[in-house]
Parts: sequence; C-alpha cells; structure tokens
Amino acid sequence: MTTFLGMPATAPRGVGQLRGDRTFPQAAHAALGDAQLRRNLRHATATIRSRSGRVIAELPDWQQLRAAGSALKADVMARLPQLLQQLEARVSEAGGVVHWAADAHEANAIVTDLVRRTGSDRVIKVKSMATQEIGLNEALEAAGITPVETDLAELIVQLGDDRPSHILVPAIHRNRSEIRDIFRRSMPGVDPDLTDDPPVLAAAARKYLRETFLSTTVAVSGANFAVAETGTLAVVESEGNGRMCLTLPDTLITVMGLEKVVPTWADLEVFLQLLPRSSTGERMNPYTSMWTGVTPGDGPQNFHLVLLDNGRSAVLADPVGRQALHCIRCSACLNVCPVYERTGGHAYGSVYPGPIGAVLSPQLTGVADNASLPYASSLCGACFDACPVKIDIPSLLVHLRNRAPHPRAERAMMRAAAYLMDRPRAYARAQRAAKLARIAGRRGRGLPPPLSGWTAGRDLPPLPEQTFRDWWARRARAAEEA
Ligand code: SF4
Repeated sequence: MTTFLGMPATAPRGVGQLRGDRTFPQAAHAALGDAQLRRNLRHATATIRSRSGRVIAELPDWQQLRAAGSALKADVMARLPQLLQQLEARVSEAGGVVHWAADAHEANAIVTDLVRRTGSDRVIKVKSMATQEIGLNEALEAAGITPVETDLAELIVQLGDDRPSHILVPAIHRNRSEIRDIFRRSMPGVDPDLTDDPPVLAAAARKYLRETFLSTTVAVSGANFAVAETGTLAVVESEGNGRMCLTLPDTLITVMGLEKVVPTWADLEVFLQLLPRSSTGERMNPYTSMWTGVTPGDGPQNFHLVLLDNGRSAVLADPVGRQALHCIRCSACLNVCPVYERTGGHAYGSVYPGPIGAVLSPQLTGVADNASLPYASSLCGACFDACPVKIDIPSLLVHLRNRAPHPRAERAMMRAAAYLMDRPRAYARAQRAAKLARIAGRRGRGLPPPLSGWTAGRDLPPLPEQTFRDWWARRARAAEEA
C-alpha cells in the first residue's frame, strides 16, 4: 500500500544535524587515528553487547517478539495518516494542543514561539534525538532562550560544546577524566577540586540539575511512543531526569517524529519488552513515564505536541526504504557494528550514527546529500541479526547504494561492462585484450586513474589463468577427441 502525507520533501539544508561537513571516509580516517576514542568505544560497546545478550537469552519467545514488533511497525507505516489523525483527536480531547511541523524550520519556530509565550528564558530538556535532528538548541539559543540538557551524557556533550556519538550513550567517546575536565571548565558552581570518581561526577551533575529542575517552568521532550487510541505519550529513560522534566514544569512541549505512533496500548507491551533488552541490556526500563493530555492539578498544565515530518514522508514514499522508520532507537545495531566500533558516531556526520544512521540520514536528506553513508558498512549483517524490529539494514544499504550518485568514471565503466556483456563476441575479445591482462597484473595496486576511486577501498582480484570460455572450449575439444 502506498501512503502519502502531503508532498514528500526531504529535510532542508542549513538547519539541524543530519548532514556532516565531510564524507564518511574523510571523517572516519580522522577518527581512526584517535586511539583513545577506539579504546572507549571498544570497551563500551562490548559491555553493552554482553549485558544485552544475557537478558535476551532469558526470553524463549524473543524471535516471536521481534516478528511482532516488525509486523506492528509495518502496519503503522501502512496507515500512518489515519493513526496520526486519531492521535491528534485524542490528545486534543485530553487538553493538549497538537502542532504539525513540515520541517526543522517550522518545528523550531513553533517551539521557540511557545516558550516565548510562557515568558521563560530557560527550558529543561529530556534526551531527544528529534530535537537534535532539527537543531532545536541552536534555534532556542538564537532566540535568547537557554536549553539545559538533563540526561547526564547529554549534559556532558552540551557542556563540552560537543556532539553526541551514540544514540543511547551520547558521550561514549569521553572517559571519566575528560568528563571531570569538562565539568570543571563549564558546569556552573562546580567544585574546582572535583575528582574523576564516577559517583563524585554524578553527584556534581545531580546538584546542578536539581537546582535547575526546581527553578525552570518549561520542559521540552521527545517521545519514544505515542498511543493513537488514547493520545498517550511515553518516554523511557534510565536516570529519572526525564520524569522530573515531564512532571515538574508548568508547560511541557514534546517534539515527536511522525513514525513514533503505535495503534494501541497492547502494542506498547511488545515494544516495552524489546527496547530495554536491546538497548541497555535491562529486563525492564527503569523509568517509563506516560501521560495523556493535561490532568488538572497534576503535572504540567499546558501540553503541546509537535508532530515532526522533516523528510519522513519522503522516506515513507519509498516502499523499500520506509523500513528505516521502524527504528525504535535501541542502538543495538551500533553496538554490534564493526565499522561503528572503530570510527565512532561523529564520522557519520548526522545525529543518527551507525548502521541505522547509514540508512536513515540519506533518506531524510535525499541520498545525494549523504551519498557516502550507504557505503559505511561491510554488509556483514550483524545489524540485521541484532535489530529488535528486524530492519533489514544490509538490504537497505544496497538499495540506497543503487540510488546514490556514482562518479562519472564508474558510471562509464559500468556502461562499458554492460555493453560488452550484451555482446558475447566483443566480450570474448575484450577478455583476451592485452590491456585487460595488464590491468589484472596490477593486483594490490588497484586500477589506474580515473578508475582508481573504485579500487581505493577494494582489492582488485587477479584474473584467473583461463577464462570460463577457454575452459569450456578445452573441455569440449577433449570430449570430442576422446
Ligand atoms: S535499526 Fe534496529 S537495532 Fe538499530 S537502533 Fe533502530 S531498532 Fe535498534
């Protein structure tokens, strides 16, 4: 079934964090030179992998849960407009206000205007990939509003004037002494003799954040799920900071990607089992906050839901590529990816790193703007095996490689190969051509320019001693003589 939400447009340029300023190979090259980064990544991904593997092995019906999650997501994509309208109706009935944002510009303008109307010049934030995607912090700062990240890792990234490098552990590239230095340098009111002992660092962050929670009247969050049948939003997190943001302020603004809607409460049951085991390696998520509109006298008295497109309709319009919208942001594919483990998240240039980033970002921006990302994979398939909603990332990568613009020399070479393969005699002559034999002799050195780009990242295999045709002819001759 084809589903359209208006005219599918890709995410606009010049706003947000979906495009890097270097190609993946350029950025990865720099990252590979950082031994400390690689040590941090190896340790963190190996730890999460083994914890997650242990708790997944406890569930005898894990594969059935994955199949259910995959089927539910496919169903959501097939009737997304209807579910979103149902969600809008239920949220409005419950006292919330729903805003539709076609892109990052619109979403930033909506949120900025809503915060301004409260009179507050500061907002507290729950970790949210959607708001990073649209560059909300930068937009708020430009409007004179200070956003304060309250997730510990996000706070480290924000105070370090840095960018997240993992979906779940945004500061995975930092070790504890680096974090101590960042806190000493940038955390207001911090003890100048702060040590790098983890409990001491956590206590410093807690003290700073608690004061901020109690004195800020507006919060901005993302959402992990939204239930269409009741208008209920859900945020899952591990530190309790999200619970504080979602309950203490007067005004709550939630920015949610369109694809996060699920039809019913019963569907949440599947995802709330899949997500914690795949992401943090926990049996249950520590803090799962759910709310439906506004409850008089309890929690925020003003609730706004911003439904964000920003390229998602364009992804949905591709019947193959839309699988990338099934993602529940567990980060399991990052933790098993041999490429991610060596390069880290910054090399992907987008807020969405790792295998899911390699298929989601190019589709949100248009493949031409992130053309190197579909190649940021060895196609080993570990991401597919790990994904709790069975997104076939390797097939998506190949699909996007076919849509990526190819260099002129490569296109010319492929056209020439297609011409020859259509003409058996010409093909046979070409095989015998002395030039081809010379090229074959270049094993280990790659093809000469202008084709050298194609072999820069691949070995050029030697041509066999004899071609299939020669072998076949010799065999036929031998049979005749026998
Ligand atoms: S693609 Fe799958 S494994 Fe990767 S983050 Fe999304 S849900 Fe998790």
